[in-house]
Amino acid sequence: MKHVYADNNATTAVAPEVVEAMLPYLTTAFHNPSSMYELARGPSDAIAAARRVIGEMLGGVLEQELIFTSCGTESNNAALRGAARANPGRRHIITTAVEHPAVLEVCKAMVREGFEVDFVPVDTQGRIDLGAYVRALRPGSTLIVSVMHANNETGVVFPVAELARIAKETDPAILVHTDATQTVGKLPIDLNAAYQHVDLLSFSGHKLHAPKGVGVLFQRRGSRVSPYMIGGHQERGLRAGTENVAGIVALGKACELAVAAYADEARVQGLRDRLERELLAAIPYTHVNGAEAERLPNTLNVAFHFVEGESILFELDRLGICASSGSACTSGSLEPSHVLMAMKVPHTAAHGSIRLSLSRYTTVEDVDHVVAVLPDIIARLRRISPYWDAAANGPRADGPEIHG
Ligand code: PLP
Repeated sequence: MKHVYADNNATTAVAPEVVEAMLPYLTTAFHNPSSMYELARGPSDAIAAARRVIGEMLGGVLEQELIFTSCGTESNNAALRGAARANPGRRHIITTAVEHPAVLEVCKAMVREGFEVDFVPVDTQGRIDLGAYVRALRPGSTLIVSVMHANNETGVVFPVAELARIAKETDPAILVHTDATQTVGKLPIDLNAAYQHVDLLSFSGHKLHAPKGVGVLFQRRGSRVSPYMIGGHQERGLRAGTENVAGIVALGKACELAVAAYADEARVQGLRDRLERELLAAIPYTHVNGAEAERLPNTLNVAFHFVEGESILFELDRLGICASSGSACTSGSLEPSHVLMAMKVPHTAAHGSIRLSLSRYTTVEDVDHVVAVLPDIIARLRRISPYWDAAANGPRADGPEIHG
């Protein structure tokens, strides 16, 4: 059976060059980088080299501005919690309604602890409501603005450079954080040019062909953020814990490969566009979530109206195709995704939304395979859908009333 991996926003395959680069640090060069003997120099130098590569990728940021963490979730927690701890006089936070739970749930926890949080809405295309964002800023009391760079479900890109500039013009003491977990490695980010007003940026290795278990928090020099993980002196005391040397080396290599592959993103976008075009042409009552917004080149969130996303994924899985649902059904509730709800996608479309996310390893054969099998899956599922009139091959006129 042919397998197609189209869930790269969930995680990516580790690049073979990355595996090769990290192997020595899992075998012969296993020493603790903090140890004093000569053999520890190898791991310690390798961390420094990875830091340089990552710093260069982000526009030549200082090595001491990069803190290695264990994942994107940790980086986001460290940014929000560290900002709050360092600035106890400020209790107001601005974020968006469509953040990943690694920001959203932290903000909700902070509401329970007495912080005030504005969750800025998005429009039907998933674009941030700029007016609401500007109105939410409170000079003198806003602690931090945390706005994701691109949405993991729809791929919609937020104008973070502009949002950061507006925040700083309103009050230079407002900290600006962006969760760039879905953009680092896909879009160039220059923290000393367009993104110069961003103080904190998070990302994660496993989204760009490094392994799971390594992430980064960029923390601009001079920004008021307290350490989040206390213990030893690693990462200059900002994040204690013996370094994940192999993971850090892997991330350095993955970043090097990503920069070399930036030009390949046009090819990835070509594949995504082909997938989108062919699916829309082959399957009626289908739309693309966020179609009119600027989107990541690799991401397609497509709504097949009048069917259940979970059933589509099940059928795809049986054919060896990995995709994911727009619905967050992990809790067992069949609530549609908070992102699609915030975009006011009608229920009958939100439930039938799936995400297909590609990578530089995706081939045209992969795309054509998905295009070959999906129309039949959707047609079969619609025949048994309570919202679909199998005889008329269209939505049921007397179907249950569904409110978006
Ligand atoms: N932020 C975004 C936008 C993500 O897509 C993800 C992963 O899905 C995370 C944060 C969490 O990253 P990690 O799995 O490394 O904790």
